[in-house]
Amino acid sequence: MQRENAGCLHWELAKRRHPAMLPASMAKGFDLSKLNGPQREAASTHQGPVLILAGAGTGKTRTITARIAHMVSSGIAPGSILAVTFTNKAANEMKERVRGMVARGAASKLTLCTFHSLCVRLLRRDITKLGYKSNFTIYTGSEQTGLIRRILVRRGGRDLKIEPGVVIAAISSLKNRGVGPTAEEDPFLHMVWEEYEREKRALNAVDFDDLLVLGSRLLEKHSETASYWGERFRYIMVDEFQDTNRLQMDLLRRLCGTEHNVCVVGDDDQSIYGWRGAEITNILRFERFFPDPKVIKLEENYRSTMPILQTANSLIRHNTGRREKRLWSRNSGEEKVRVVLLPDDREEARFVISGIEAGHYGEGMKWESFAVLFRTNRQSRLFEEELRERRIPYRMIGGQSFFDRREIKDVLAYLTLMENPDDDIHLLRVLNTPPRGISTKTAEEAIAVSRERECSVWRILCTGGLGDRVSARATNAVAAFVEMIVEFTEASRENAAAAIRGLLERIEFSDFIRRSCKTPEEANSREEAVESFLGDLDRHLETHPKAGLRGFLDSVALNGDRDNDDDLEKKKGVSLITMHAAKGLEFPVVYVSGVEEGFIPHKRALEDGSLDEERRLFYVGLTRAMKRLILTVCITRNKWGQQVGCQPSRFLDELDPEHVESADFQSFEPPPLEADQVGTEVKSILAMLQDIEDVDLR
Ligand code: ATP
Ligand code: MG
Repeated sequence: MQRENAGCLHWELAKRRHPAMLPASMAKGFDLSKLNGPQREAASTHQGPVLILAGAGTGKTRTITARIAHMVSSGIAPGSILAVTFTNKAANEMKERVRGMVARGAASKLTLCTFHSLCVRLLRRDITKLGYKSNFTIYTGSEQTGLIRRILVRRGGRDLKIEPGVVIAAISSLKNRGVGPTAEEDPFLHMVWEEYEREKRALNAVDFDDLLVLGSRLLEKHSETASYWGERFRYIMVDEFQDTNRLQMDLLRRLCGTEHNVCVVGDDDQSIYGWRGAEITNILRFERFFPDPKVIKLEENYRSTMPILQTANSLIRHNTGRREKRLWSRNSGEEKVRVVLLPDDREEARFVISGIEAGHYGEGMKWESFAVLFRTNRQSRLFEEELRERRIPYRMIGGQSFFDRREIKDVLAYLTLMENPDDDIHLLRVLNTPPRGISTKTAEEAIAVSRERECSVWRILCTGGLGDRVSARATNAVAAFVEMIVEFTEASRENAAAAIRGLLERIEFSDFIRRSCKTPEEANSREEAVESFLGDLDRHLETHPKAGLRGFLDSVALNGDRDNDDDLEKKKGVSLITMHAAKGLEFPVVYVSGVEEGFIPHKRALEDGSLDEERRLFYVGLTRAMKRLILTVCITRNKWGQQVGCQPSRFLDELDPEHVESADFQSFEPPPLEADQVGTEVKSILAMLQDIEDVDLR
């Protein structure tokens, strides 16, 4: 026994002293031979700070996953390993990769998640220490908008011409930088913010930014909490570190304790969340917080062909203040990057989807090999239409949320009430949905009384607090509502799925949906959405019995894009994806659509002067491609029913012409139009194409 322990100790010491010198064959169980030298060094250095700074596609994520597997196989308890990344999709990808490398029992003990879901865990355990109740609700976009709109109307009247979205963005941006507007700087914003914070507190709700703020505060102010998590997570990794903002960096520092077994991986050229306060300087400042790190550089790109890589390199070189990298690839590749000009956005969708169809049927590529990238959600509609028409399977990533559907929000509101009836926003949403005789006036009275008495609307309704301010009929309707919620809340303790089904039946939700839809198709689609959502709930309760309804509501709030593991597995097909959501992913064939001024760079970015960040976003888009990269540019686009002229993106001028071929769509598209099919309209478009090509493209 003693000898064994001594052996272990020896092994540990050897690793600490010469981690990089451990030959791959000595790594118990896990084979590091599939990594290159520097990757192996990173994967086998488990103690102390490690900084991996490397370009796109050089295997950063692969190194992190291999490192986790190697740690587990060297005897580190999987429960003490935490890997954090930025999107649910990336976290799921990482889980998927790790699952293939370690035993199932060990995999389930690892914590691989986003910063936000990590904070939810911290807060569910200890938020009472900060004066909140532990059944808090997480507000996502629409609830936040609802609350801010209410405050704006209250403070500025109905004619106030301020969009809630603008206020939310301003507050979020300041919060993420760890500062606030002072009353002198912007009195109105200051007042709205204060009221917003106060109301959330009263509603026992937190928004996405609060998760980080409160998580960090908890660790800062409560040393027992900090030491609990510090002991729990002794090995921490962060992927996509370039996108951490100040709050996340604070959290990381507080979580790391004194051991500093932290490994971060990032690429300064891919920092694309400046608007959320991400601080590219964090990556450059890492050494200050975690002294004497082992710095590892990765330069071989395994993802893309040389023409794709060189094109991306030629673009990013135009940014200033970056660390120069020498990325190279063994894959010389045969195809150049294509820039294709299309007469309009409908043609663009047709061209892209035809190309995908040809690749699938002609070259035998799977539908999953293709991705269409775009900058804004509204660009996706025509692609979706074209795909549906041709019956090509597809999945939408980072687009309009399933949870933003009206009927799903109603069901969610009822479920939330079963957990936290003090949440006014959700309560008010369903107070009269479906209509049950509780008028807007009654609701307004209830809000007014709740404000006077400084308690939630639910309290007022429960305690008959409306008195004779409303009619006897309204009083009865309110009492019936309260009784129903109490009944099903109790039932939900036993079985939440059965409770919500019972409630929906009681309120005849299905009939309500049918009545409120214009067509039977719409009604069917909405009913199906509810069924599918309830199916999600069933599955969740079955697979996570301990987490229960609260866990389900958390995961809905955190997985706004509904990309949970099961879902991703099930959804096959062409990926339609925003450039932001594409980070970290790769596809054999990538179409970047709408490479035009106003999209990329985005017009808002031009006003803000964040051109460099736009260039990085475009760089992220280009570097997703493995074999084939096609950029499409429209000459006109339909905007609000009118054809509006577009300008090719200035970034196209920055691409190295050696690796790029540009042409109008017909030269790339089989089959070509016959001469007699070419009408005058098409001829004039071709003439325009010629002009633009001469002026704007090399
Ligand atoms: P990004 O910057 O886009 O996040 P990344 O640096 O995280 O990229 P990965 O996604 O880990 O890169 O790897 C890119 C591709 O290269 C993956 O398909 C991965 O499997 C492959 N790869 C990485 N390292 C190696 C290696 N040593 N040998 C073979 N393939 C590798
Ligand atoms: Mg990665």
